[in-house]
Amino acid sequence: MQSSFVRADAEALVAHYAKARVSRDLALRVYTTRLLGADPRLVLHGGGNTSVKTRMPDLMEREAEVLCVKGSGADMAAIEPAGLPAVRLAELRLLRAREALSDEEMVRLQRANLIDPMAPNPSVETLLHAFVPHKFVDHTHATAVLSLIDQPDGEARAAEVYDGRMGIVPYIMPGFALAKKAAEIYEANAAANGLILHKHGIFTFGGSAEEAYERMIDMVSLAEAALRRGRRAVFASAPTLPSPASGGGSIDFPSPAACGGGSIDFPSPACGGGLGRGLLRLAEVAPIVRGACALKDTANGAHRRLIVEFRSGDAILNFVNGADVRRYATAGVVTPDHTIRTKNWPLVLDAPQESRGFAASTAAAAAAFMANYRRYFARHNARCGGIKTMLDPQPRVVLVPGLGLFGLGRSKKDAKIAADLAEAAVETITGAEAIGRFESISEADMFDCEYWSLEQAKLGAAKELPLAGQIAAITGAGGAIGAAAAKAFVAAGAEVALLDVNEVAARTVAQATGRAALALRCDVTDAASVQAAFDNVAESFGGVDIVVSNAGAAWQGRIGEVDETTLHKSFDLNFYGHQRVAQAAVRIMRAQGTGGCLLFNTSKQAINPGPNFGPYGLPKAATLFLARQYALDHGADGIRANAVNADRIRSGLLTDAMIAERAKARGLTEAEYMSGNLLGREVTAEDVAQAFLAQALALKTTADVTTVDGGNIAAALR
Ligand SMILES: [Zn+2]
Repeated sequence: MQSSFVRADAEALVAHYAKARVSRDLALRVYTTRLLGADPRLVLHGGGNTSVKTRMPDLMEREAEVLCVKGSGADMAAIEPAGLPAVRLAELRLLRAREALSDEEMVRLQRANLIDPMAPNPSVETLLHAFVPHKFVDHTHATAVLSLIDQPDGEARAAEVYDGRMGIVPYIMPGFALAKKAAEIYEANAAANGLILHKHGIFTFGGSAEEAYERMIDMVSLAEAALRRGRRAVFASAPTLPSPASGGGSIDFPSPAACGGGSIDFPSPACGGGLGRGLLRLAEVAPIVRGACALKDTANGAHRRLIVEFRSGDAILNFVNGADVRRYATAGVVTPDHTIRTKNWPLVLDAPQESRGFAASTAAAAAAFMANYRRYFARHNARCGGIKTMLDPQPRVVLVPGLGLFGLGRSKKDAKIAADLAEAAVETITGAEAIGRFESISEADMFDCEYWSLEQAKLGAAKELPLAGQIAAITGAGGAIGAAAAKAFVAAGAEVALLDVNEVAARTVAQATGRAALALRCDVTDAASVQAAFDNVAESFGGVDIVVSNAGAAWQGRIGEVDETTLHKSFDLNFYGHQRVAQAAVRIMRAQGTGGCLLFNTSKQAINPGPNFGPYGLPKAATLFLARQYALDHGADGIRANAVNADRIRSGLLTDAMIAERAKARGLTEAEYMSGNLLGREVTAEDVAQAFLAQALALKTTADVTTVDGGNIAAALR
């Protein structure tokens, strides 16, 4: 591992923060914390922590000796000085004299001694930082170190590799007891550069930010070297591991079984075969996996769904294709704090072979996973006196031989975090298996971390939005109503896929949502384009739950004279377009088995025809009945179908120029024309979007037509 320390960059950051009266010590602390945080081989997503012992004025302008330590759960890669709350050091050190200290007391004491009472909670490992004397303390969960120590004899291996340069601390859950033990071990060998925490990670110490950082790089590099040395010896003597010679060029560890013809009968990319024939495509697999991992029929008939993030590549395929994957993949977490993001073990599926009932085996495997999780919780909750509340039992990582892995989460962001941690686990476990046998902490220790209030606090207690975990696809998303719908569904917590024949317009709307919205080109008059777009949505998010079928355009013509081509064009977009979109969505919804909601943008024209608007109104009327037909035919699948019948909305169909022209023709002002309804108020795209959202949220409402026109009695439904 190479050092990224650049003195000029460090000094530039010191100068930058000096303007904001941030001390040199703290600025340097920020600099190397970011260096550590930027390398996924060291820390990921809120893992790891750092500190500096320094002096600063308190709120009363009195100089105080403090520990500036990373806030709990903060991201090291993007840390700012405020992310390292200052705690009075002398008071923290006093705590060492205690025999015991509960977590709640520890948090309260730490908070009581914050210089700024508004600062975030200091790291759960604050006391360890306080109890060692060094000015700078760095802590990571380096992959190479974990590969070395996540072994039955990990402590002995670390002792051999570090040969007195690091103290070796047995596994103890983070908190007061670990801090005391770590300090004792350090004091028994005060020349050590840091500490190895068995099955957890590594601390390095230094008199300067550079020294602590460089020691981290050096100590992790020693672990990397040990892995390289050990790997060759193990390969030669392990008959179950085929030689890495069968692997692709970039792979430096063996593919356990895929090339050796073990129990798996599809070719691995490592053998040059690509994905095996007969395997389902990702777009087919993802909805099956996502549906199986949903918690079905919770309160009020709702499903608790997750979003997925797919990952693959040589390293992942070698891992998931291994004959022994169920053993090493489900042996536990690679470092304790992963448990809150990934749970303690992944769901391991069969290879997705069409002939082998992948959907049925996946549903059974997911159900077994969740039943097992409930038993695990009951077992350990009983040990803790029954005081814990069970978290959801849904998997957060799913391994699919032949394909790759899925991270799952209540949002795309959380799914990506789970996938990142899963990838780090693949690397760690692959390294551990190459030199020995991967072993995690005990199940009881994992439970204690997963259900530790201080770990759960890292996830925050934000109230979930009503559409969290759901995926909404919106067609015609580049237009006014599509954009308003995108905004409304994002605000309700959904992930959104924005489909439009004009991809640039879809991208513009995606950027405006402020969320990782997916923008796709989709021509709803082209079945292949619709299929490709929905495949892409399934691959990107795992499936689809809500469709706002909104794409449309207006044609005019007096019905007794209009040519058939015009009618065909309008039907192709304003009826068949909706049918193609709905059919593609229903296929995915049925694979998920968690119902869904189809929402159609019909029009006042569907109910109350306007003169010379037959070419537009006729297909819209058919689409109104299309919604009813879907409600009828797919109600048993839990799929709802509703329509919004809107009128006179400023949009691509009713441009400002058209408004001016029509107002003039009627002898009205534009404002009078736009508010010419019973309520006397203009109806906006946002009003239409809110109607779609209301239909999506009304779980017992199907075959509904909601009118959004400010009141037009001639268009009112009977
Ligand atoms: Zn840690």
